[in-house]
Amino acid sequence: MSKRCELLENCGFFLNFKGNSEVIKQGWIRLYCDNIEKSENCKRKEIRRQTGKAPPDNMSPTGRML
Ligand code: SF4
Repeated sequence: MSKRCELLENCGFFLNFKGNSEVIKQGWIRLYCDNIEKSENCKRKEIRRQTGKAPPDNMSPTGRML
């Protein structure tokens, strides 16, 4: 199994929305968070790198707001 996103433990989206029905339906955790390489495409990660701050918890890895 590959490594997961290094921000997982501190990610408000992951911590608060991983059980959300839309998140499960879209498979975002599997498509981003569960794989460190794929997590490089995560908009949340990009924003955190650019601004030094985490985006709102309800922003998904695609940048779409829940
Ligand atoms: S939403 Fe993005 S930053 Fe948060 S754990 Fe998943 S891949 Fe990492």
